[in-house]
Amino acid sequence: MEAEIGIIGGSGLYSLLDDSKEVKVQTKYGAPSDSITIGTIAGRNVAFLPRHSRKHTIPPHKVPYRANIDALRQLGVNRIIATNAVGSLDRNYKPGELAIFDQFINATHGRHDTYYDEEVVAHVSSADPYCLQLRNVAIKVAKEAGIKMHDSGTVVVINGPRFSTRAESKMFKLYGAHMINMTQYPEVILAREKQMCYLGIGLVTDYDSGLEGDDGVEPVTADEVAKIFDANVGKAKKMIHGIVAEVPEEKTCSCSSSMEHAIQTKK
Ligand SMILES: [Zn+2]
Repeated sequence: MEAEIGIIGGSGLYSLLDDSKEVKVQTKYGAPSDSITIGTIAGRNVAFLPRHSRKHTIPPHKVPYRANIDALRQLGVNRIIATNAVGSLDRNYKPGELAIFDQFINATHGRHDTYYDEEVVAHVSSADPYCLQLRNVAIKVAKEAGIKMHDSGTVVVINGPRFSTRAESKMFKLYGAHMINMTQYPEVILAREKQMCYLGIGLVTDYDSGLEGDDGVEPVTADEVAKIFDANVGKAKKMIHGIVAEVPEEKTCSCSSSMEHAIQTKK
């Protein structure tokens, strides 16, 4: 085993580890987004993968999600912490704040979103797709570090690369989504099919188009967005270090049995 915890860095988070070595991993689903760096945080072995590649050349709809999760699994990873830039659909989720996801709504199309699409048929339970143990550790770490973070939130995942129209944005708000993003799906569900724990941290960058013009919602300028973005990445790094340091080795969640009763194909 090369690493126990995997970090998938979203927009803005392209490197994390100092004392790292670089490994190239191949999978039957192709190459992951980039080479993976392995190093330590708080004495624990961690693997880091930038979702859009180090130079940010891979758009959300072309991220090799299956290869990324499979590559981390091959290295021994059984827990994933992922960061994601999100737009806010709810005025209570303010730019500059963080939020951990507890639910998603998939509005993407055409993505390879399962490892079970030939010979073996499986229906993974998705009722609670995010790891409860990692979420609880994250909540504790944010509190201790004085970082403003929402303990839960629903993220709607759109295909991109374009942003939503105002009408779409209003519709997603009616769905009950608090945040909008382009990469949470199928990443979280592929990790679940591999029975890995997955924590998604949303970094709220701006208000989505449907909220503009609402009472009490100040539009964010491009300059402000850039500043918020940088500050958020700093907070995310702090969160990752804290979570890795504090998460007990022993799992108390049910993630590693997520495929129990899921496989329908007879042996
Ligand atoms: Zn778990």
